[in-house]
Amino acid sequence: MELILTNFTVPRILPPFPPILEPLPPLSHLWRAHSTTLERTRTMSEAFQPFEADVARVLDLVINSLYKDKDIFLRELVSNASDACDKLRYQSLSRPELLGTDPELRIEILLDEKAGVLTVRDNGIGMDRDDLVANLGTIARSGTARFLEAMGGGEHKNLKLIGQFGVGFYAAFMVADRVVVLSRKAGDDTGWAWASDGRSGFSVSEAETAVPRGTSVVLHLKDEAKADLSPAKIEATVRRYSDHVALPILLGVKPEAGAEEKEAEAPRQVNRASALWARPKAEITEEQYKEFYHHAAHAWDEPFARVHFAAEGALSYTALLFVPTERPFDLFDPKRRHGVKLYVRKVFISDEVEGLLPRYLRFVSGVVDSEDLQLNVSRETLQHGAVVARMKKAIVRRLLDELARKAKAAPEAEAKEGEDADPSYERFWESFGVVLKEGLYEDAENRPKLLELARFRSTHGPGWVSLADYAARMKEGQDAVLYISGESAEALRTSPHLEAARAKGVEVLLLDDPVDDFWLGEVRDYEGKPFRSLTKGSVDLSKVVDGAAKPEEERADQTGLDALIARLKAALGDEVKDVRPSSRLRESAVCLVAEEAGIDLRMERFLRQHGQFEQLSRRILEVNPAHPLIREMAQKPDDAALDDLAHLLLDQARIIEGEAIPDPGAFSRRMSAWLAKGI
Ligand code: ADP
Repeated sequence: MELILTNFTVPRILPPFPPILEPLPPLSHLWRAHSTTLERTRTMSEAFQPFEADVARVLDLVINSLYKDKDIFLRELVSNASDACDKLRYQSLSRPELLGTDPELRIEILLDEKAGVLTVRDNGIGMDRDDLVANLGTIARSGTARFLEAMGGGEHKNLKLIGQFGVGFYAAFMVADRVVVLSRKAGDDTGWAWASDGRSGFSVSEAETAVPRGTSVVLHLKDEAKADLSPAKIEATVRRYSDHVALPILLGVKPEAGAEEKEAEAPRQVNRASALWARPKAEITEEQYKEFYHHAAHAWDEPFARVHFAAEGALSYTALLFVPTERPFDLFDPKRRHGVKLYVRKVFISDEVEGLLPRYLRFVSGVVDSEDLQLNVSRETLQHGAVVARMKKAIVRRLLDELARKAKAAPEAEAKEGEDADPSYERFWESFGVVLKEGLYEDAENRPKLLELARFRSTHGPGWVSLADYAARMKEGQDAVLYISGESAEALRTSPHLEAARAKGVEVLLLDDPVDDFWLGEVRDYEGKPFRSLTKGSVDLSKVVDGAAKPEEERADQTGLDALIARLKAALGDEVKDVRPSSRLRESAVCLVAEEAGIDLRMERFLRQHGQFEQLSRRILEVNPAHPLIREMAQKPDDAALDDLAHLLLDQARIIEGEAIPDPGAFSRRMSAWLAKGI
């Protein structure tokens, strides 16, 4: 197949391109498409490169799952073009020569209906050969392979998951069966041509004709897309998705044959091109906000929360920030950064200002536009300067306040949450709670707010509880917020450590995120009530008054208990730190606990998994004096056969705790011997 590239010349209303280009052709040539064959790039084997496996899979995903949302290809290409212009504008602050004689940054969409070719082009930063290969031939974002794995093969129905990904440039292949990208990097003389059919791979070679600065993405439309794309449709799509893009977007249409010689209509601007964040709030519709979020975050989901405010006074700036509903696929990638772009008086400065938001808000995206910083602000000032630090403080406060408002307004999932139902705060928490809890650890200043925002599983019921709920349900005489931590809330519900608390009707938080053990090391209390682990030290619930509880169970017969405990200690030796009667058990015979000052069982397991702990530290074995087995054993503490039972009890306690048994062979031998006795 011969590859035809339709090139449009520059319309009169725009400033001329840099002088390395041929002089502008006379206007009558405006729409005379000038064809270039790029077949050479396809046949030259050294120019052709197969796609990486991930690219091929993303392409397959995009083409096969998103066909219903075809229009978004335009939004993706316009977003990229607008980012490219932002980058050039920023670089030109220190190197004004980069703008050359073409300083009006803009985006053009050019439609040639007859040829079935649509071109989206910008005069932004452009790409050289290496950029083209790196950006359009690979998918560098780590975690992509894992994400694709999660998507599964075959039927791609899970659009929500794709929403976490952002497909970008590859969306072009939803409407085109051949895409040619012509690009020249600002400051370079050589233009490059990248071409692909979106199936096998791509080719890159030096462009045969002069390429203006920036990037043209030339789409050779598929038949169904040809029928679908009229100028009116394109205009409506740009209005809908890209009205807020802060650069002019021009639409040019090649006139019907025969009209060519006439003075052609110049491309017209079809978007408003004013920075959305700078407009008065009352003039911005929900739809516009949503589209801006999609553009700024490269995301597809509904924003869960939004903060839009202008600060004036000591510091002047505007912030428009969004919290997503869906967890981005790379939320736990250590390289992931927040998605907030810093502008200075509407000029894009950087999307890498780490000091603008704390790590625990790395799911937030949007724009902060400062009036106080200099356009040529240094990297150093951005990362460590006072202006950024002060903006951060205010922004974090606003975001947390907005989350608190949402938590109040729509706390729970609707009984039958339809596709379009507003996402609840709990849904947000399920996506981002784990990350927000990192803030409990890192951000002492906002800790009280974060504690109010936090939700937990608890023994109160299957749903989420807040600490305020918990505190309101605390029993008379209960002096601490009780919790146990472990791998999953469901498994924790059956833990023997809960037995006494349950008998007294005392609620216990079930903490199942590894991060819980970290913040609990820093956060001592909630409104003066200390957090206390039920798997650590001794737990005294004797002061808790519970009207509904049965009278204290008949005190277990203590006869022989001391002697039994002495026997168990002797039998277990160094394997345990201590053996003692338990006040936390009701139904179970034994459990393991950590010392009051020791580290919690789960934390230790976590550290061991990460190679920070060599071996299990010694535990305290607690026995339940009321349990029939313990009572029976206490009857004959001198029986030598109890030594084997002691080991069985310890192993049983380890199993309940999710620990491995150090000597499974011995365990099995003892177990069989005792079972044989019982038959
Ligand atoms: P994303 O925009 O999410 O990074 P894309 O697949 O859309 O992913 O684009 C990949 C990269 O290609 C961009 O990050 C950018 O570096 C580069 N790119 C895409 N379009 C353009 C363009 N019009 N001008 C300059 N660079 C571009």
